[in-house]
Amino acid sequence: MDFQEAGRRVEELRKQISEYSRLYYEEDSPAIEDDEFDALTRELRRLEEEYPQLVTPDSYTQRVQGAASSLFAPVRHEVPLESLQDVFSYEELREFDRRVREAVEDPVYVVEPKIDGLSIALEYADGRFVRGATRGDGQVGEDVTHNLRTIRTIPRRLSRPIPRLIVRGEVYMPRESFAALVERQELAGERPFKNPRNAAAGSLRQKDAAVAKERNLDIFVFNLQLLEGEAVDSHAASLELMKELGFHIIPFYSVYSSMDEVIGEVERIGTLRNTLPFDIDGAVVKVNSFSHREQLGSTAKFPKWASAYKYPPEEKRTTLLGVEVNVGRTGVLTPTGIFEPVTLAGTTVGRATLHNEDFILEKGLAVGDTVVLRKAGDIIPEVVRVEAHLPGAAPYRMPHVCPSCGSEAVREEGEAALRCNNPECPAQRVRNLIHFASRDAMDIEGLGPAVVEQLVSAGLAGNAYDLYTLKKEEIAALERMGEKSAENLLAAIEKSKSADLFRVIFALGIRHVGQKAAKLLANRFGSMEAVLGASPEEISAIDGFGEIMAESVVRFFALPQSRHFVEQLRLAGVNMERQDRMEGEEGEEGPDARFAGMTFVLTGTLPTLKRDEASAIIERYGGKTSGSVSKKTSIVLAGEDAGSKLTKAQQLGIRVINEEEFREMVK
Ligand code: NAD
Repeated sequence: MDFQEAGRRVEELRKQISEYSRLYYEEDSPAIEDDEFDALTRELRRLEEEYPQLVTPDSYTQRVQGAASSLFAPVRHEVPLESLQDVFSYEELREFDRRVREAVEDPVYVVEPKIDGLSIALEYADGRFVRGATRGDGQVGEDVTHNLRTIRTIPRRLSRPIPRLIVRGEVYMPRESFAALVERQELAGERPFKNPRNAAAGSLRQKDAAVAKERNLDIFVFNLQLLEGEAVDSHAASLELMKELGFHIIPFYSVYSSMDEVIGEVERIGTLRNTLPFDIDGAVVKVNSFSHREQLGSTAKFPKWASAYKYPPEEKRTTLLGVEVNVGRTGVLTPTGIFEPVTLAGTTVGRATLHNEDFILEKGLAVGDTVVLRKAGDIIPEVVRVEAHLPGAAPYRMPHVCPSCGSEAVREEGEAALRCNNPECPAQRVRNLIHFASRDAMDIEGLGPAVVEQLVSAGLAGNAYDLYTLKKEEIAALERMGEKSAENLLAAIEKSKSADLFRVIFALGIRHVGQKAAKLLANRFGSMEAVLGASPEEISAIDGFGEIMAESVVRFFALPQSRHFVEQLRLAGVNMERQDRMEGEEGEEGPDARFAGMTFVLTGTLPTLKRDEASAIIERYGGKTSGSVSKKTSIVLAGEDAGSKLTKAQQLGIRVINEEEFREMVK
């Protein structure tokens, strides 16, 4: 490749890397797998090494990626949060060792697992937790203290009142919590997070602390950023100090003086990878002595005293044995590939989604083909590529009739999915009933998939409202159901009549409306009647409601069959009003949600309240705060020296109040 060609390729790579980084860091929604991304950055690094003239200060190789979103208050890191130099082979680790030995004598290394989460800094003053921020671009991060306070393993108070301390750690979502979250998201028709890392980042970068609270995040602390009033001279000692102060430090680490031992440990951690209850994406090798670290220094992006070994994703070759097509709650036909079982990242995998017709055609997948499987983000099995086509086999064709009811399956314009539009389709009925009875919806205990299938095939419950007219004898006559279970099920169905309004809304199974959106609707309107009577404008003005969600709600309630469904539930005696105190709103959130659905913007200096105090009050009463004024702003709370936000509020005709009026509102 000549210089000019290299220049063009470098440009192209930077463009791609920058877009993928934006999706990854700012949207928490990666478009490609990490190893594919790493291949791009490695190519860039290689080209820049070959042609150093092509290096620019803003290249990916030169600065920490990510940006602080304006949704949160910016925090300038007193000690920058650096990135790590990735390596992909043991040879590169040995090179790292050689470079270290050129600068310092007899280095000692610490080896730790590299937790796949989101980097944050925690700040303590006089032993109290005062602030926590994301990495952002390494210099300026986002203030996410409100969310970090929901993580129980972050000590509010240290075991002794150190004057000042900043530590760095990785917030992560345990695998088990991630699996439960994905299940809930799928059930609610939401797009699930791709992997625990993105789920953790997406949960922490939320305005509403209630979201982070229910997501079960956790943290491992791995670095001492700043310490005043005491001193330590090595990384291992700092880890022990942080442990003593009350932090959960990285789950294990070991200290070695030779690269052979280091590599042995890196290899061992690699074999543990699938057995740990959280994701790791590598092992970090760090120089232990702080004075050695100082001698080695840092580049603009990463310290020269550490190296991160990245494990390759595990891939396995297998055969496609067949395709199973399932019908979802909304009638979407989803193909699942059935494979010769293989062990992947610790579990046996015999099935993987084939997504839709286009995916199958693109890959030309035919039954009998040899394919390569892997687990995306080490969790969800997926087909990476076709290794060999079975000679003569034609690509699999999706059926154009519904496998459950035989109705024609249609593919609407602009959609990748084939859909069965028959409202009487038994498969959809089963899925809908399962959703209706699920834990996050009406929470009807004992009404699992097996019972639902029997009820539907016996013609006893075509729609959810039929549940409320079921008779004991009818249930008792089902397979594996006795008198006692029938009684219990009837009692559970009866109990569901008093479920809170948000559960009933969620149970309706409106596309794109998860439990959180259902809560917003229930909060904003208070009764099903008011929801039915709401105008599209009122619905789309709810903070937290995107356009797609609002449209979906409006479309759903415009259908006569939806209104009929709601009416039947009402006639059956199902509660249609918001209860005073919403479930799950206890403790500091309190039962009073007088600011529900309202967004406040704070500006200027208030006479007595500090900003975070005012925000805390707003949040306690179910409201939200935002950093900028828009049409969705409900109230601007303005103090002295309020600037452009006040002007904008006045222009948009948004209500502006002062502290006194605010106090009046929360009396
Ligand atoms: P990095 O994530 O590879 O490494 C630095 C991070 O490791 C630090 O921020 C730190 O928080 C974390 N870490 C975890 N455990 C640690 C420990 N024990 N000691 C020290 N640090 C520890 O670097 P990066 O520059 O933030 O991001 C690059 C990563 O992000 C790569 O893995 C890349 O594949 C991925 N990425 C993927 C996409 C995509 O589209 N898939 C896009 C951008 C970045």
